[in-house]
Amino acid sequence: IANLHKKELTFKFVIIGDFGVGKTSIIQRYTDGEFSSSYKVTIGADFAVKTLEWNEEIRINLHLWDIAGHERFGALTGIFYRHAFGAALVFDLTRPETFKSISKWLIDLRKKVSLPGGIQIPTILLANKGDITTKTVPIDIDAFCKENGIISWFVTSAKDNIHIDEAMIRLTAAALKNH
Ligand code: GDP
Ligand code: MG
Repeated sequence: IANLHKKELTFKFVIIGDFGVGKTSIIQRYTDGEFSSSYKVTIGADFAVKTLEWNEEIRINLHLWDIAGHERFGALTGIFYRHAFGAALVFDLTRPETFKSISKWLIDLRKKVSLPGGIQIPTILLANKGDITTKTVPIDIDAFCKENGIISWFVTSAKDNIHIDEAMIRLTAAALKNH
């Protein structure tokens, strides 16, 4: 029997990181259940939606905001970050330099968005393309997350659908606590 009184929440999450790390692929995998190896610059819309039947009482609509091909530091406008309630930082395990960039993305994120009272929005870190290699997971990733207030990190693959659901649920659970 459908619960007609289900509470409906909407959370905006921003997905950020260097060009080519797999942001669009992760969003597509999570919202459509599909992966395409053919190159695509952007999902076209400002965001894609994933609806979670969280429990008997709560339905959550996740608005996953993708960068529309302008992955330059400082190029993202306030509109992109405005009212974001969570963030996923993504790097590419096949290109270590994309992990180095995470610090810069974090600075941009923390500067441009926070919760009322200046509280940081929940942030997770995704080491993507884990289907290709996991040998390149930075040895200091735990310490890095701790130092930077990142709540959790995951090896993911948009191609093989690894840990994407788990990661998004972790982020959603953290966001729910701030609601
Ligand atoms: P974006 O620029 O961060 O949005 O990256 P894209 O989602 O466009 O992905 C860049 C390229 O990496 C594309 O050719 C994707 O097919 C590929 N890609 C993305 N995620 C994965 C993954 O998990 N595994 C593999 N093997 N390739 C991936
Ligand atoms: Mg993209």
